[in-house]
Amino acid sequence: MKASQFFISTYKEAPADAEVVSHKLMMRAGLIRRVSAGIYTYMPMGLRVLHKVEAIIREEMNRAGAIELTMPMIQPAEFWQETGRFAGMGPELLRLQDRHGRDFVVQPTSEEVVTDIARSELRSYKQLPVNFYQIQTKFRDERRPRFGLMRGREFIMKDAYSFDKDVAGAQASYQTMRQAYRAIFDRFGLRYRAVAADSGAIGGDLSEEFQVIAATGEDAIIYCPDSDYAANIEKAEALAPRAPRPAPTQPLVKTPTPGKSTCEDVAQLLQVPLTSTVKSIVLATEELDAQGVVVATQLWLLLLRGDHAMNEVKVGKLPGMENGFRFASEGEIVAAFGSKPGYLGPIGVRADVKVVADREVAVMADFICGANAEDFHYTGVNWGRDLPEPALVADIRNVVAGDLSPDGKGVLAIERGIELGHVFYLGTKYSKAMNATFLDENGKPTWFEMGCYGIGVTRLPAAAIEQNHDERGIIWPDAIAPFTLVICPIGLDRSDAVRAKAMQLHDELAAKGVDVILDDRGERPGAMFADWELIGVPHRVVISERGLKEGQVEYQHRRQTEPTKVAVDQLVSYLA
Ligand code: ATP
Ligand code: MG
Ligand code: MG
Ligand code: MG
Repeated sequence: MKASQFFISTYKEAPADAEVVSHKLMMRAGLIRRVSAGIYTYMPMGLRVLHKVEAIIREEMNRAGAIELTMPMIQPAEFWQETGRFAGMGPELLRLQDRHGRDFVVQPTSEEVVTDIARSELRSYKQLPVNFYQIQTKFRDERRPRFGLMRGREFIMKDAYSFDKDVAGAQASYQTMRQAYRAIFDRFGLRYRAVAADSGAIGGDLSEEFQVIAATGEDAIIYCPDSDYAANIEKAEALAPRAPRPAPTQPLVKTPTPGKSTCEDVAQLLQVPLTSTVKSIVLATEELDAQGVVVATQLWLLLLRGDHAMNEVKVGKLPGMENGFRFASEGEIVAAFGSKPGYLGPIGVRADVKVVADREVAVMADFICGANAEDFHYTGVNWGRDLPEPALVADIRNVVAGDLSPDGKGVLAIERGIELGHVFYLGTKYSKAMNATFLDENGKPTWFEMGCYGIGVTRLPAAAIEQNHDERGIIWPDAIAPFTLVICPIGLDRSDAVRAKAMQLHDELAAKGVDVILDDRGERPGAMFADWELIGVPHRVVISERGLKEGQVEYQHRRQTEPTKVAVDQLVSYLA
C-alpha cells in the first residue's frame, strides 16, 4: 500500500467530548469520525483494524466448527413478542415502524431470529449440534453512549448461537466456545482475563466474560493471583457470604485504619488513577474543620499526580454532606469523608452521580470501595435502587481486596477491565418461548438447548488502545495493527536512490505477505514520524540518502526509543 493512494487524516487535538485516551487517539489518528451520539463512521484506517479483528474471530470460530451466516439488522416485532423481549427489554431496544405501521426492532442481539431459523431448519437430533454465528452491526440505545467505540449505540458484534440436543451437549458446545475465545483473545495480543459472570438479562446458568485489563475499564474484576479464581464483582459478591454489617458508628472500612488514614490510603481506597471520565472530585466532609481541609487538600494533590483528566476538587460541608453532593454534577466522582473521631474512615466512592434534585444525588453507575450502605444513607446518597438499571448499582460492596479467595488459595485482588467477550449457557429459555423443537432419538419433539457467545468487534480496538499507548499515540499489537510496518523515506522527492529503494523494499515486503505501507506523501520527517507514531504502526523502517550510502536503513519498533541500523540487503530477512 502506498500512503498517497490511501486516506490518512490526523489531528493534533482531540475533540472536547473525547474523555478516555482510546477515544482521543482514535479520533486524532483518523480511525473513526463521529456522526451522532454513539454512532461513528469507521474511517479507512480504522476499518483495517476492524477487518483484522474480524479475520481472527472468523478463523477461530470456523476452526471451532461454528458456521457463519448473516441475519437481518431490522427484525419483525413478532419474534420479539414471542420471547417477551419486545415489551420487556426497555429503551435500549430500538423499535421502529414501516410504512404499513408494522413494528420492527433493530437487533441488539439475534436470539429470536436464530431460534426461528433453528425451528424451521433443524428438524432432527441428527443435525445437532449446530453453532451459527454472524459478525454484524448491532444497535443498543445505550443510556449513556460514551468513550467512542467503547460504548457506542451502533456497534459491530460477533454473536454466535449454539443448538444442542441435551444439556451435556450444550455444555460441551459452551466449552468449545470458551476454548475458541481463549484462542481468539490470545491472538489479539492483549492482556485479558476470563472471569465468572452473572447471566444478566439474557438469562441462563453458565456465564463468563472475557475482560481486557485496563485502568479505565468500567468493570471491576476480583481475582486471586495465587489461583485460577476470577469473577466480575457482581458474581464475586453473589457468591460471597454476606459479611455482617457493622453498626453505622463503627469504623467502616477495612483499610485504611479509621482515624489514621493517610492520603495514600485514601488514594488506594479510591483506586487512583481514577477513570478519566472524572472531571472533578467532590470531597464532602462532615465538618469542614482543619483536618477535613488538610485531608482534602492532600488528597487533591495526590489525585492531581494521577494519570487522569480530573482538573478540579471541590470541598463541601454540611451535616449529612449534602452540600458536597450538591456541588456534584453528572460525571463526577464523589468522595465523602467523615472526620469525626471514631468515624474517620474515608469513604471511597467511584460513581457517576447526577444531581436529580436540590439535595438528592442519584448514583448512575458505581464502584464503591469499602464502605457500607449505612454510610450512604447517612450521607444522603440515593443508592439508585429505584433507578432503571438497579442491577448496575450494587447495594453494598461485600468483597474487597485482601479478602480470602473463595477457593482458600490466597487473598483477592481487584483490577479494572473492559468486557470484550461474553459466553452464556442459555438452556431452553428461547427455544421454549418460541416453541423451537427437533425430533429426538425416539421421535419426540424436544426443545433445543442453547448457548450464546458475543465479542465486541468495535469495542476491541478501543480496549487495545486503552492498554497500549504512550504520549505519542497508539501502540498496536501486530495482529490488529492497521499496517504492520511503515516505510518512511526521507527526502523521497530529492533522492532517486531513496525513492527506488523505498519502492523496492515495499514490493519485496508486500510479496512476503508483510502488511506494509510506504509513506510516499513527501511529508517532512518530523510530521511523518509523528503521524505514524500517533496511528501506532508497530514497525518502522526509515530510509535516508545518508543511510543508503553506508548500505543501511534504520529499523525501530514503536516501543523502542532508539533505531537499529540494519544492512539494506538484510532488512527483509531481519524483519521476517
Ligand atoms: P456492557 O456490560 O458493557 O453493557 P453487555 O454485557 O451489555 O456489555 P453483551 O450483551 O454481553 O454486552 O454483548 C456482547 C459483547 O458486545 C460485549 O461483551 C461487548 O464487548 C459488546 N458490546 C456490548 N454493548 C456494547 C456497546 N454499547 N458498544 C460496543 N460494544 C458493546
Ligand atoms: Mg450492556
Ligand atoms: Mg456486561
Ligand atoms: Mg455481557
